[in-house]
Amino acid sequence: MRVVLTGGAGFVGSHLAERLLAEGHSVVVVDNCSTGRLDNIKPLLTNDNLTFFKEDTVETLVLEGPVDAVCHLASPASPTDFPRIPVAILKAGSLGTMNALELARQKGARFLCASSSEVYGDPQVHPQPEDYWGNVNPVGARSCYDEAKRFGEALVMAYHHSYNLDTRIPRIFNTYGPRMRIDDGRVLPTFLTQALRGEALTVNGDGSQTRSFCYVSDLVEGLYQLLICEGVHEPVNVGNPEEVTIEQFAREVIEVTDSRSRIVHRELPPDDPKVRCPDIARARKLLGWEPHVSRRQGLELTVPWFREELSRRGLLD
Ligand code: NAD
Ligand code: UDP
Repeated sequence: MRVVLTGGAGFVGSHLAERLLAEGHSVVVVDNCSTGRLDNIKPLLTNDNLTFFKEDTVETLVLEGPVDAVCHLASPASPTDFPRIPVAILKAGSLGTMNALELARQKGARFLCASSSEVYGDPQVHPQPEDYWGNVNPVGARSCYDEAKRFGEALVMAYHHSYNLDTRIPRIFNTYGPRMRIDDGRVLPTFLTQALRGEALTVNGDGSQTRSFCYVSDLVEGLYQLLICEGVHEPVNVGNPEEVTIEQFAREVIEVTDSRSRIVHRELPPDDPKVRCPDIARARKLLGWEPHVSRRQGLELTVPWFREELSRRGLLD
């Protein structure tokens, strides 16, 4: 396949690019490098099967030649981006998704759109199955992202129904691994950086809120299986159902890094979801997929990359 991968210079996108190339596909990465960086795909740039275009999906998305699939990942994703660039996030999820869908429609290509567990908001059903409609504050601190993802899903389904486009909607839950931006504010890069530098880990609120963390190779396997399967147009949760409180997660990061850091508590941001855990029965049934990397293994695979990155930037003693 010739696959267009928007957001391919980001954390998840760079791992998906690697996987697509390993499967023998050719990959066209389109990224504006706003929250991603070319460094993430540097080793892939010498591969004849990968092309990179620095473009903003919100502006335009025109490409010569045939395209078999469009994987649309381009969107800022960190909660610290929400107050910083809310309009850009809404544009990426609406205009950007529309442009990517138009490209797929013109080329007769399959379309996969990265959605998010954020469509469930602060969920009142737990764990979250795909048929739960969610609990989102439409004018709240996270609404630019949550509503952009919800609108994106609606747009994808509209293209599927109106133009018979062959669409896929993975709802991605918290994912971690090498190549996350060390300063993107998400919990894992923050905790790992703090632990490796011997600084206090900043747990928001009392730390009783939960998340379920998926290692990036498991996520990429789920995305790839969804991309190549036939006839699955409804949303599919892709995440690891092993749930943990943020307080416990902080302790695990301290342990795995052998750090002397302590834990401090600070104010919980508004609308921070209290629980989050995917029900992955649908992915198991339709894709035969489930995650295999435990949190302990995933952390051990991630720590060396962060150590190296911090040291490269002169941030480790
Ligand atoms: P990321 O910020 O590392 O990657 C996003 C990429 O999109 C970056 O390279 C960025 O430069 C690019 N981008 C942003 N706006 C763009 C635009 N208008 N035009 C072109 N490129 C643009 O984030 P990520 O964690 O890799 O997330 C990738 C996708 O997965 C996003 O759609 C995100 O919403 C979704 N997702 C991720 C997670 C997670 O835990 N990582 C969870 C749920 C959903
Ligand atoms: N969090 C925290 N300390 C930090 C960063 C995040 O306690 O330094 C918490 C955050 O409040 C949330 C959880 O960790 O409850 C996950 O946050 P993240 O930003 O990674 O992703 P979210 O799931 O909220 O989108």
